[in-house]
Amino acid sequence: MRSGWRQVLWLATLAGPIIAGASLDAPDWLSASNDQLAFSSPSDANVRQDSVVKVQWETRAGLEKAMRQFEEADLDVWFAGRRGKAWEAVVGFKDGLAADAATVAMASDEYGPPMRAQQVPVGDRLSTSLPKLHSAAILRNLSSSSLRTLDDPMHDAYHPYDNIHEILVKLEETYPDWLRVVSVGKSSEGRDIWGVKVSNMTSSAPPEEDDAEEDVEEEDEEMEGPEPLISVFTGKGGRSHTGKRHKHKKHGKLGFVVAGTQHAREWIAASTILYLVHDLVVPGDTGSTPFTRLLNAVEFTFVPVVNPDGYVYSWETDRLWRKSRQPVGVDPARGCFGIDLNRNWGHKFQPGTRPNPCSDSYPGAKEFESVELQALRDYLLDDANHVDAFLDVHSFGQMLLFPYSYSCDAQTPDQENHYEAVLQAAKALRDVHGRQFETGSVCEVSLTSPGESLDWTYAVAKIRWSFATELRDIGVFGFLLPPSQIRPSGEEMSAALRSLTQFILDKEAGKR
Ligand SMILES: [Zn+2]
Repeated sequence: MRSGWRQVLWLATLAGPIIAGASLDAPDWLSASNDQLAFSSPSDANVRQDSVVKVQWETRAGLEKAMRQFEEADLDVWFAGRRGKAWEAVVGFKDGLAADAATVAMASDEYGPPMRAQQVPVGDRLSTSLPKLHSAAILRNLSSSSLRTLDDPMHDAYHPYDNIHEILVKLEETYPDWLRVVSVGKSSEGRDIWGVKVSNMTSSAPPEEDDAEEDVEEEDEEMEGPEPLISVFTGKGGRSHTGKRHKHKKHGKLGFVVAGTQHAREWIAASTILYLVHDLVVPGDTGSTPFTRLLNAVEFTFVPVVNPDGYVYSWETDRLWRKSRQPVGVDPARGCFGIDLNRNWGHKFQPGTRPNPCSDSYPGAKEFESVELQALRDYLLDDANHVDAFLDVHSFGQMLLFPYSYSCDAQTPDQENHYEAVLQAAKALRDVHGRQFETGSVCEVSLTSPGESLDWTYAVAKIRWSFATELRDIGVFGFLLPPSQIRPSGEEMSAALRSLTQFILDKEAGKR
């Protein structure tokens, strides 16, 4: 139910500029239209209804206040976080309510009015018919010979779920010594959550240490964070500074899981991960992979689509679908589906943040209610995968992040290392295409949210190197990022991933 004053404001915005009193910039969305490969130009008829609103505040408190109002109105917040010196929200349209979002924001005058606001038309870029045709055409020409170089046009298009699997299988056929397709588990609707292990399959891991020192001193939980695993790479003793042994010490390679598309509509996450996989195995000038040394020391698992049901739904029914498609709520007749996967992880989980099962950010009634997360959780905990590093890939906002998310008061004992790691990775990334990525803990750069992946991977699974990234862009295209940006996104994230991985390897080897 909309309150009276809000209704009045809402109606007022329809008549004129969306936000009286705030400057209305020329939409950079339109000026970037030559970047649209597979989308037609926005048509005027769609501009008003299908638009998103971008609002900035000078203070975090201003954004937080507005966020509470957005949530109360059950609006679809695409982005909320720090952007340079400003605090920004991008609010998506939902049932034509974007303008309403702006007025809600304006009403948040307790901390001053927003410093800047902008309405961004979406046009008809929600259609998935052209992306489907584009992907199908590329798949027809996909071959082992075309995959010998990164020039393959597969990186010029987004791909539906089935095509992603086909690409992974073709990559495995092309690079059998480096790559193995695996299923991480099943989705709620029974789809495989496909992953791909990337490593030097022909190299033997360093010798295992003897079993005699296992299972010592598991009590003594004085530190909240996981233990360093120096023993893995030095073979020296295997005791951390708190005297505990690391659970994965017997394995020779660093297990690094890179997972994307928990949120279905974040297509760039899946496509960027495909690029990362390809980039690691594609041969260099001498014929072998340029990252042989890295792949001797690391076993990556890339999971391009953690949420297959939601991803398929975003291709078939609703381009902006965020959650999974698991039936939820006590009353199935209401037709509510889906859990926000990245609010459903089991550390500091809070079911009450968005209690309405129909909400876009419904966290689930209990932690790990999502069957997709149960599968990923079990994969991360499986000693056979010896996971010591994790990168959760999202869009958008251009960020490299570390724990914690649930609270700004909580800091990990690894904070300094994490900071150094993401700063280096952000620099490596910027050197590729000049993109600026914000760095910090999730809470610091974004806003507090409980139940996120990296809080659990770090605090519970004891995966010391737990990170998250928000890929391109900063809200010009948002989730509807043109396919022409897939390749540059892949190129810059590849640099970031290599930097991050090398940092971890060096730290674990005690070289710093
Ligand atoms: Zn996300």
